[in-house]
Amino acid sequence: MIRVSENAGFCFGVRRATDTIESLIKNMREGDVICTLGKLIHNEQYCDYLKAHGVREVSGDSLDGLYELAKQGKSVTLVTRAHGIERELSARLESFSDSCSTFKVVDATCPYVTKIHKIVKENSDKDKHFFIIGGENHPEVRSIWSYVDGKGHICADSGELENTISGLTDLEKGVVCVAQTTQKLSEWKKCQQIIKKYCTNAKIFDTICSVTEKRQAEALELSRLCDVMLVIGGKDSSNTAKLYQICCANAKKAFWIQTKDDIPFDQIATTDKIGITAGASTPDSIIQEVKRTMSEIMENFAELFEASEKETQKIYKGAIVKGIVMSISENEISLDLGVKHTGTIKRDQITSDNEVKLSDLFKIGDEIDAKVIAKSDLDGITLSKKVVDDVKNWEKIVEYANNGTVVDAVVTKATKGGVIVAVDGVEVFVPASMTGVGKDKDLGELVKTAQKIKIVEIKEDRRRAIGSIKAVIREEKKAQQEAFWASVEEGAEFEGAVRSITPYGAFVDLGGVDGLVHITELSWKRIKNPSEVVSVGDTIKVFVKSFDKEAKKISLGYKTDDQNPWNVFKSKYAENDVAQVKIVGITSFGAFAEIVDGVDGLIHISQIANKKIDNVAEAIKVGDVVDAKIVAVDDEKQKVSLSIRALLPEEEVANEDAPVAEEAVADAE
Ligand code: SF4
Repeated sequence: MIRVSENAGFCFGVRRATDTIESLIKNMREGDVICTLGKLIHNEQYCDYLKAHGVREVSGDSLDGLYELAKQGKSVTLVTRAHGIERELSARLESFSDSCSTFKVVDATCPYVTKIHKIVKENSDKDKHFFIIGGENHPEVRSIWSYVDGKGHICADSGELENTISGLTDLEKGVVCVAQTTQKLSEWKKCQQIIKKYCTNAKIFDTICSVTEKRQAEALELSRLCDVMLVIGGKDSSNTAKLYQICCANAKKAFWIQTKDDIPFDQIATTDKIGITAGASTPDSIIQEVKRTMSEIMENFAELFEASEKETQKIYKGAIVKGIVMSISENEISLDLGVKHTGTIKRDQITSDNEVKLSDLFKIGDEIDAKVIAKSDLDGITLSKKVVDDVKNWEKIVEYANNGTVVDAVVTKATKGGVIVAVDGVEVFVPASMTGVGKDKDLGELVKTAQKIKIVEIKEDRRRAIGSIKAVIREEKKAQQEAFWASVEEGAEFEGAVRSITPYGAFVDLGGVDGLVHITELSWKRIKNPSEVVSVGDTIKVFVKSFDKEAKKISLGYKTDDQNPWNVFKSKYAENDVAQVKIVGITSFGAFAEIVDGVDGLIHISQIANKKIDNVAEAIKVGDVVDAKIVAVDDEKQKVSLSIRALLPEEEVANEDAPVAEEAVADAE
């Protein structure tokens, strides 16, 4: 569906001006000079048309020359523009035409604008504040301004008006306000309210042209119904700019085009509802051309789009074009664009990396996209790949941010508040707090390292992206923890680093989750502090003794049965074996001797020598290493009885009453 706004295109004032000049052209004789003072209307194509028909566009500086020509007998006709001219200029032209019959002035000022000039003349004086709501550089506003006597103010919008009027103290002397004829209606309404707020007896003249109002209202209605709005008009046309603003705010997409050649085929779908509106200076022929082109496109969109891709490689400044790499030198590459001229991309429009060789980036035959940045018959077509890449890369960054994608990046430099990382050619800032590096650590250590980051914030207006390394670390840790808790089971073995030590145990990193090895689980021997067995940073093997998924607590074991001294003893010795033992303690009833690390045996006083002794220390002392026979082993109580005497020659053994092995064990208890 394509709908054209009823009031699109030439308004009454513009039509009047164009009809005037076209009738002059029709009756133009050889040698006649017809000029417009500035652009007759704000439409480049129409001004080109006038030029092609011999109409010259002149500025105020040329008037004296034209007057001289007229005085020499030439027929000079000067047509003033639809937006009106300044009072002084008007007076000067009047005096020229009064004094020279061949100097004619044709006033093509729109009657609506002339009416505003009259309002200003009649209502401004030295005491009153005269407000014009409009663009200060617009020819219409400049012409209105030239008629203001006394205190005048030009405000572009309600914001500027509020700022200006709130600073004035003598408003009671009178306030008058008019609007540029093409002012946006909603903005004008706001301005009226502001004026009334500050001055109850202000004179407000509704000078917005009714055609403008209608056109804006239609654009609003149409853009709400359509997916795509095409706004046709010159880029310096104020009323077209306002239509475009309205369409942008209400349609899904809006494009400001000047002719059918600007239609963005690639951004319009066959199913889109299309609306067309046009500024007051847009000739009907251009509107009809756009409409016709759009109808054809919508009828056979696919073919036309393909054709436009292939053939209509439109080369104009700002166009994105495709080209095939034809040659590569140290400082530029040349592209075949499928048109007469070759495209050239200089090195600085390809990459910022001065080290890289262009021949490493491209090969002959590569197809690449580039933007036309200049075009001339002399220099050919100058292109930029960087601009296209920047846009594409930025779009990727926005997509990463929207999708929460984790991306690979390289840290390029450290700054005062963080680090800069390069992601797909875009510099992303990672604040220090999001680097995962401790407060007192040097961020410079990250430079040239590869990191995984997430884009956490986008500032579209400034094309700035904020990244976080910490967010990735946090997520990875969370995933690790979830996987751990989903699979953990008692007895599972892990190898992990000791992260910290407390008086009651050591915490071991099992991969995102810390488990505790209680002090009693560290050693079979009695220890006073875990540091007697492990140190922070040690990698140790542990196993899961128990865990609580809810409380996220896990108890680990470190000592194993293999290391259990009793088991070690049992694996090495049995009753009646002889062991080399070390005396580790002496009591009144005997001596304790270490058999293996962690297992001591008792040598009863009666089993130390082959004669009766009253004092153990007489025969043996701590530190002595002696051979002893294992005479009894109590598995249940994990007690061992030893005898030196049993190894002495039988004949030397004194006939004493020695206790049996079981009795010796009982003594030890
Ligand atoms: S938009 Fe209105 S004021 Fe401006 S030239 Fe057209 S008719 Fe005149």
